[in-house]
Amino acid sequence: MGSGQQSGIETRIAKQIRAQGAVTVADFMRLALSARELGYYSSRDPLGAAGDFTTAPEISQMFGEMIGLWCVDTWQRLGAPQAINLVELGPGRGTLMADALRAAKLAPDFLAAIRLHLVEISAPLRERQADNLQAFQPQWHDSIETLPAGPLLVVANEFFDALPIHQFTMTESGWRERGVTLGDDDRFAWTLLPPGPQLALLPSSLRAAPLGAIAECSPASQRILGILAQHCLQSAGAALFIDYGPAASGFGDTFQALKAHRYHDPLQDVGDVDLTAHVDLPHLARLAQEAGCGSFGPVGQGDFLRALGIETRAAMLSRHQDHVTQQEIQTALHRLIDAAQMGTLFKVVAITSPGITELAGFA
Ligand code: SAH
Repeated sequence: MGSGQQSGIETRIAKQIRAQGAVTVADFMRLALSARELGYYSSRDPLGAAGDFTTAPEISQMFGEMIGLWCVDTWQRLGAPQAINLVELGPGRGTLMADALRAAKLAPDFLAAIRLHLVEISAPLRERQADNLQAFQPQWHDSIETLPAGPLLVVANEFFDALPIHQFTMTESGWRERGVTLGDDDRFAWTLLPPGPQLALLPSSLRAAPLGAIAECSPASQRILGILAQHCLQSAGAALFIDYGPAASGFGDTFQALKAHRYHDPLQDVGDVDLTAHVDLPHLARLAQEAGCGSFGPVGQGDFLRALGIETRAAMLSRHQDHVTQQEIQTALHRLIDAAQMGTLFKVVAITSPGITELAGFA
């Protein structure tokens, strides 16, 4: 409800608030992003220069190639099972996986072993994925629940940041959950929800805090982590998560909106802007450990990619190229690994079946 007319999803959320009262930030985010047909992801391809944001695989083929090498190496560490489900969560345009599988050609046994599964809610993005990955005959899933049993390798780049978070703020009378309501002018407005059982969602490590502190948690992410951990306990498995967020769990308001590569008010133009939050990867790694899995990281994306050899790959790609192309490759490399760009803000975590002691990329 910013400029111009109310969007379909704004009408839908407003109706729900009028009928049932203020919604949680998590409900607001879930409806805005993924409501059938009306949600942001359900209705568009948001990536690239003409879209709202750009991701690492869209910056350079080198990113997906490094992930492909990581998959081959990890598959070998898992005992090179003859059949393995290769799963990507939120594959976007399918660029990462196409680059990964091209790099994996150096391991024909790996390519022969994989069955490709894509977990994706966006119909327009599924079309792009089908174009880019048809040679591998992917199977699509609406959610992680329908993944088959058996050995698995999972990759998720900028997936968890799109999953709903709850937000809490410390008030004079203790923690209260933040919510979204309708203001006098019928625009969305922040509010505090009445105290209730949802306070139990807050991790115990975050219970004590100064007045005004904001804490976030994502039960949706935790649920997915739990399912992946179960897969890794039942069969040989590993999952790689790359997302932006802190090196250690902490406080802060990270709920944000992006439109056309700029920050936007998250309560305006709902359904037409990307909503994200930082991902607490250290917490997800701890949950995997508590479930009995191995966990690696967090390490910075820059360190991870360097350890996998991205600088050597950039030098190889630059050989025999003209000066302009060489410059482009260098620029892309620096965007991916420099501390001032994506190299430090983006973190990498992996979880594995018990007994895996080393993984490529995690020193
Ligand atoms: N991994 C891609 C795209 C990141 S954007 C890249 O790095 O370029 C987030 C992706 O997750 C999109 O493909 C989006 O449609 C998908 N997505 C968002 N919420 C989802 C959900 N709840 N379940 C499955 N996929 C989801």
